Amino acid sequence: MNNKTYPSICRLCTASCPVTVEFDGQTVTSAKGIKSGAPFHGFFCKRGQSLPDHIHHPDRLLYSLKRQPDGSFERIKVEIAIAEIAEKLNLLIANHGPNSIATYMGTFSGVYPLAAVFAQSWMAAIQSTMIFSSMTIDQPGKGVAANLLGRWLAGPQPFKGSDVCMLIGGNPLISYAAGNVPFQNPAKHLTSEIKAGMKLIVIDPRYTETARRAHIHLQPRPGEDASILAAIIHTIISEELTDSDFISANVAGFSHLKSVVAEFTPAYAATRADVPEQLINVCVRATCGL
Ligand code: SF4
Repeated sequence: MNNKTYPSICRLCTASCPVTVEFDGQTVTSAKGIKSGAPFHGFFCKRGQSLPDHIHHPDRLLYSLKRQPDGSFERIKVEIAIAEIAEKLNLLIANHGPNSIATYMGTFSGVYPLAAVFAQSWMAAIQSTMIFSSMTIDQPGKGVAANLLGRWLAGPQPFKGSDVCMLIGGNPLISYAAGNVPFQNPAKHLTSEIKAGMKLIVIDPRYTETARRAHIHLQPRPGEDASILAAIIHTIISEELTDSDFISANVAGFSHLKSVVAEFTPAYAATRADVPEQLINVCVRATCGL
C-alpha cells in the first residue's frame, strides 16, 4: 500500500503546531513537525509525536457508553444517550435551578473553533452562569488581577529584540507558555534572543530548565516573589530611575504605588524572600538597562 502524507496541525494544545501526517491506508504511521518557516521552525513536542498512538490506542473511546448498576459500562446509541442526559438535566434545572448545571472547557476545546462557542451558547440558553475552564480553575488570579488593575492597553512588549526578559514562576521550556516567550518552539526563541544580547532573569523557587539558562536566578521562598517585585519597584522609584514625563502623561495612582512599596527596601525583601539583597539590586540595574 502507498503511503500518503498530508499537511495538518496538531490539536493537542493551543500552540497548533504545523505537522506532516503520514498514512499507510487507514493507519497514521507518523506525525512530524514541518521544519521550514517561523515561528515554529519544526517544533513538535513529545506529546505531539505521540499522536499516532493517541489515534490508534486500543483503549480509545469511539462510541458512547453507559454505566450499569454494577459499575461496568455498556455501549449505548448516541441518540438514546442524549435523550437520557436531557431528561436528567431538565430534572436538575426544575429541582435546583439552572446554576446546578456547570460546564468545563479545557485546553482541547480551544483548538476546535465551535466547541467553546457552542458550550457558551448552550449555557446561555439554559441560563446557567457556571462556566469553568482551565483558566478559572488553574489560574483565576490572572483574570481577577486584570479586572482589578486594568490592562496595559498598548499590548505586551514584543519578545524579539527585548533587552531583558523577566520570568516569574514561569518555565516555558517545559510548559511552552510563560510571559511573552513565544510558545511555538520556546527553546529556540529563547536561545536566539540570549545570543542577541537579551538578559534573562528568572524568579522561581525551583531551579527549573529555564532557570538554568538565566543570567540571574532568584530563588525566593515560595510566595515571596511579590516582595522581590515590590523591592524592584521601590528602588526604581526611590533612585528616580523612572521616566517622569511618561508617568505624568500616562499613569494614574503613581503616588499610591509609591506609598504601597515604601517599606519594601531591597534589604527587607531579601530577608522576607531569603535571597541575596545584592541580586535584587542587580535586577534593578538590568531592568533599567544600566
Ligand atoms: S506544543 Fe506539542 S501538543 Fe501543543 S500543538 Fe505543538 S506539538 Fe501539539
